[in-house]
Amino acid sequence: MGVLVLGIDGLGSEGLKKLSEMGYLRSVDFIARRYFRATAKTCFPPQTVPAWISIFTGVNPGKHGLFSFFSTSRGRVRIHTSLDVRFPYVFEILSMLRRSVVLFNVPLSYPFRLLYGVGVPDWLAGNGRIVVRHEKKNIIYDIVKESRPISPALKSVLGWQKFADILEHELEIRRWVIEGLLELGYLENYFIVISDLDWLMHSFYHVIVKGNIPKYVEKVLRKISSLIDSIIKRACKRNMDIIIISDHGFKVYNKIVFVNTILKKLGLARGFTIRRVASRRKSRGGLKTLKIRRKSSSEKVLEKIFWFFQKVPIPHNIHRRIYRMVMRSNIRLFVDPDLSPVFSLLNIPAFFIGVNRRIRNKEAYVRYTVKMLSRIRDKHGRRLFSLVATRENIYWGPYVRRAPHICIFGSIRARYLTSAILMAVPIIHKTTNYHDFDSIFIAKSEGIVRGHVGGRSIYDVVPTIYALLDIPIQKGLDGQNIVNKEVRYADHTMRWKIASRIFIKTLKKIS
Ligand SMILES: [Zn+2]
Repeated sequence: MGVLVLGIDGLGSEGLKKLSEMGYLRSVDFIARRYFRATAKTCFPPQTVPAWISIFTGVNPGKHGLFSFFSTSRGRVRIHTSLDVRFPYVFEILSMLRRSVVLFNVPLSYPFRLLYGVGVPDWLAGNGRIVVRHEKKNIIYDIVKESRPISPALKSVLGWQKFADILEHELEIRRWVIEGLLELGYLENYFIVISDLDWLMHSFYHVIVKGNIPKYVEKVLRKISSLIDSIIKRACKRNMDIIIISDHGFKVYNKIVFVNTILKKLGLARGFTIRRVASRRKSRGGLKTLKIRRKSSSEKVLEKIFWFFQKVPIPHNIHRRIYRMVMRSNIRLFVDPDLSPVFSLLNIPAFFIGVNRRIRNKEAYVRYTVKMLSRIRDKHGRRLFSLVATRENIYWGPYVRRAPHICIFGSIRARYLTSAILMAVPIIHKTTNYHDFDSIFIAKSEGIVRGHVGGRSIYDVVPTIYALLDIPIQKGLDGQNIVNKEVRYADHTMRWKIASRIFIKTLKKIS
């Protein structure tokens, strides 16, 4: 039997509805209508890395320890890997119990610490190696060796049209590989994540919801759709239990709210700095990091101009043009983190506010900032932020203190998206496609109730997988199993810790 967990990055209920109305993702819609269907709340921030880790560990970031793409410990910025994840992934426990798994593009599964089966690295792993640990190693390897991961960074280099051509070709190969793997009856459980839809949504969600899509996007959508249809069809033929899950949905935002500008007006953030976007040639997944430099004379001039823009009333259009110019260039205007007691961190968008390490009464600053920001309303009386809360209110578990002090998110209903860039005005109008908190959670199994059940959580996926496979559910998970049956609980983490420690030791020996 076994389980298929199909992850579709960025597919929310609204996105699924629109796409299936246009004839895409028919099989997902088919399962959703006939079996279990819920909207699942995702974690904070609703972003690919923390959310997929929460989905496949079954715990909130306070227990698995990762709050973003990057780790900034000891002044060095690097992209996280699976070795940073502090809670066992469900597929690691399955591997440990000799229940075979297929991992295909599971974000931050690489390097594969504990694996019985086959692991194909995700796009964040860059030049990661395909790993097969199974008795039928040669047959499996012959199939997966064809896969060619591609990086979304290519689209900014080549432009969407050319990127779409490459993607189309790669999707063809990927389908061949995944179909081949699904033919192998001795591989039991499949964890497959489709990332491409998220990349499409970022660029085209505002036109997808209106139902008009450019031709070159249409052909990619058709390929993604037929890949997903084929996976689901094959899993049905094998009579597998199926879970379809996404890490977040999408929304069209039409305003940007500059958190640091507001903090500055409140007297909480101070100064002015310029940061350069360092495009690291070897950076995995083409993600950008920011470097801090000393202030040059040209920056001092810029600062003067900035003050002028803040003091003198200027038409909104000019501010929009400045914002566009800044986003196209490789510089970012920012407050001075040394001078500021409180400032929003340079995530994209702004999710977190940090309190200066050198400040003594941090708690008072946190309380004051939360109070002030949650009160702010726009001229229509709507709140600017749908969420302003301390990390202790959002997370629970041993790693809460690794999160920045305050979590923040723009009002989804009023369509505000946050930014950490310093601008002379607090708000500008601009259409941006970005994530929201509503994921889809669809399941097909004998033991799972049918129908639309309303709200669930992404943390419910892992306990459900354990229950479907008749394995005692890991203790300390944050969700509930949705299978209608008696379940047992156990702690697998002791064995997992020992096994993964051995793996890290051998990894160090090799490198
Ligand atoms: Zn995502």
